[in-house]
Amino acid sequence: MTVAAQFQFHDNVLHAEQVPLTALAERFGTPLYVYSRRALRDAWQAYADAVRDRDVVVCFGMKANSNLAVLNEFKNLGSGFDIVSGGELARALAIGADPAKIVFSGVGKQEWEMRAALQAGIKCFNVESEAELERLAEVAAQMGTIARVSLRVNPDVDAHTHPYISTGLKENKFGIAIEEAPKVYQRAQQLNSLKIVGVDCHIGSQLTEVSPYLDALEKLINLIDQLADLGITIEHLDLGGGIGIRYVDETPLTPTQLLDAVFERLNARGYGKLQIVLEPGRSLVGNAGVLLTTVEFLKHNEAKNFAVVDAAMNDLLRPTLYEAWHSVEQVVKPASDTPVRQYDVVGPICESGDWLARDRQLALRQGDLLAIMSAGAYAFTMSSQYNTRPRPAEVMVDGTDIHLVRPRETLESLFSSELTLP
Ligand SMILES: *Cc1c(COP(=O)(O)O)cnc(C)c1O
Repeated sequence: MTVAAQFQFHDNVLHAEQVPLTALAERFGTPLYVYSRRALRDAWQAYADAVRDRDVVVCFGMKANSNLAVLNEFKNLGSGFDIVSGGELARALAIGADPAKIVFSGVGKQEWEMRAALQAGIKCFNVESEAELERLAEVAAQMGTIARVSLRVNPDVDAHTHPYISTGLKENKFGIAIEEAPKVYQRAQQLNSLKIVGVDCHIGSQLTEVSPYLDALEKLINLIDQLADLGITIEHLDLGGGIGIRYVDETPLTPTQLLDAVFERLNARGYGKLQIVLEPGRSLVGNAGVLLTTVEFLKHNEAKNFAVVDAAMNDLLRPTLYEAWHSVEQVVKPASDTPVRQYDVVGPICESGDWLARDRQLALRQGDLLAIMSAGAYAFTMSSQYNTRPRPAEVMVDGTDIHLVRPRETLESLFSSELTLP
């Protein structure tokens, strides 16, 4: 059983849409990232169906997967983008994204990043501190332009998720405490080079219930009421990203459940016409990708069985960073005489943290091909070249068609720009 609809077994071989993963491994080698175009479109459609005729702008949180082919697909479907750096802005502009649908989040925006985003004419800066507000006002004034801003407020709600991906609690570095927000909004109002357009929050990731969103929404609506009393009106409310995906057996909330609940509250409070912005990342791409890897060696010692594979923590950081669980599928169903053992699936990197999966019942032989599932989000984008390992190629499958969307890095490219001393 797999958790991703576009990755299914046919004749005992795992496929991406209509393409056997064995064929891709043979053609491109491993480790290899494989994405399904259909899965991207289906994930987008779930948001489109949820939005219906309501005023909602969906901005793909592109740090989850910023390959240009993925971005271009979402742009063509009508998506905006949530960026967190000048580099991501450059990627969005490279595929011709509409700047009027770009929002810029992040706690440490540099001047050059602000200038580039002002130059492009983005929809909104999600400002995370008073110091950032002052810097943005200065940069915009220097350029003789006006920056459209929201304040990212921290509503102090518990998203019930992993501490590393929980962002809406008081102790997190993100946003402005909600009690402080009216004062900072008043400061923003005094700055001529700023135009207040919204209120923003993002409370965490891999959320599986609607209640944390509604807890946050309640506080945000109270803030919007307070702002109205101060003569500050807004155009949109940005609720961030965070909808979870199924990695194992989770039943995450759906975009429809979220938006129906949100608009019910908004209507009840007289804000049914307010534009809502969402910044989904993981839920648009997470189950649209897998990481293919080959078993190099099997090692058995007294305490453990290890499958040493050719992918590693530099290719997929989530297990060691968050102790994240990714399902592991044998791409070709094993022969019945292969013994089932409990394995740790580990990479070749010189770190004990270099593991991809632990304590999995697998019937392995050397040379077997494995698919690490749910590797479409925060996988390639978090990859590195640690141990001077070239990053994997990325392939997008579309029905029976195969598109290489990023070639494997060459060894030479890893150090060709480095210089030795004379
Ligand atoms: C990471 C991030 C997102 C996307 O979060 P997901 O959990 O992947 O949906 C959205 N907004 C902001 C500000 C983020 O930092």
